[in-house]
Amino acid sequence: MPTTHAPLDPHAIRARLATRPLPGIEAAAIADSVIAIERLKRERDAIVLAHNYMTPDIYHTVADFTGDSLALAQLAATTDARVIVMAGVHFMAETAKIANPARTVLIPDLEAGCSLAASITGADVRRLKAQYPGVPVVTYVNTSADVKAESDVCCTSGNAVEIVNALGSDRVIFLPDQYLGRWVASQVRAQIILWHGACEVHERFTGAELRAYRQQHAGIRIIAHPECPPDVLAEADYVGSTKGMIDWVGQHRPRSVVMVTECSMSDNVAVEHPGTEFVRPCNLCPHMKRITLDNIRLALEHMQHEVTIDPAVAARARRAVDRMLEISASRKVA
Ligand code: SF4
Repeated sequence: MPTTHAPLDPHAIRARLATRPLPGIEAAAIADSVIAIERLKRERDAIVLAHNYMTPDIYHTVADFTGDSLALAQLAATTDARVIVMAGVHFMAETAKIANPARTVLIPDLEAGCSLAASITGADVRRLKAQYPGVPVVTYVNTSADVKAESDVCCTSGNAVEIVNALGSDRVIFLPDQYLGRWVASQVRAQIILWHGACEVHERFTGAELRAYRQQHAGIRIIAHPECPPDVLAEADYVGSTKGMIDWVGQHRPRSVVMVTECSMSDNVAVEHPGTEFVRPCNLCPHMKRITLDNIRLALEHMQHEVTIDPAVAARARRAVDRMLEISASRKVA
């Protein structure tokens, strides 16, 4: 994917900022930071990849590409930019490095972690494989490179069902999200062996909370991420990945909707759908929120914090990521 930035034009950037979905006072306040980042991107031959959970001041200004973790992995795999700044969490930066090892990958804050990634280690996976010999291991991308390296294939919430089905196995070890794993188990014939990880953002939602939304907002549609607990998914009109949820809103154009996921996504998606009222339960991911315009600028200024992976681990992890990308491409799964 060739990446060419237009010549730097601070006046054009300020004019464009005025059209962004940000309060005028905020757009004015961040203009100098955005111009500095745009200048540094050109000097470093860098791109910024931003996850859908980034705050609007990042998502709508300095991001060259936005998307869910699958889309960001695909973009990272094909970019010809020398430097990738991951406006997301650490496992996403690792996945970008695994997918495109020739690039320099920077994460603006090393503490931008993930409760799912922290729930399991490579040693845990080796123990599971010893306990269930021959059973394929499907690993959610929200994991460290060590865990990916022990896996047969990776998946995202958008393609987990297709990946499990593509293996054609009677039993599958599915790691590490117990709720995504249970939802996948409800969609496939294979027996799913679960791990006990959970997303600290999605597991806070409750079915009772969603029933209250239905009572308070007549006709509201509920769409939920499969990292939510089963009682939440039981209340949902649609269950899908962040991209699946965005597509669903575009196709159904509901009068009002609640997106049961990290709350910045509603802020970002609402911009494209002025006819839809977004009811926003505000569960923020503290790890995603560690990424700011200031630390993106510092990352580019000082080329920090570079993500490195042991080459042997990266090569094994890459097999699992590549297998996912190949299956996704062959089945046209988004
Ligand atoms: S929202 Fe959940 S799964 Fe995503 S990075 Fe935050 S803790 Fe991890």
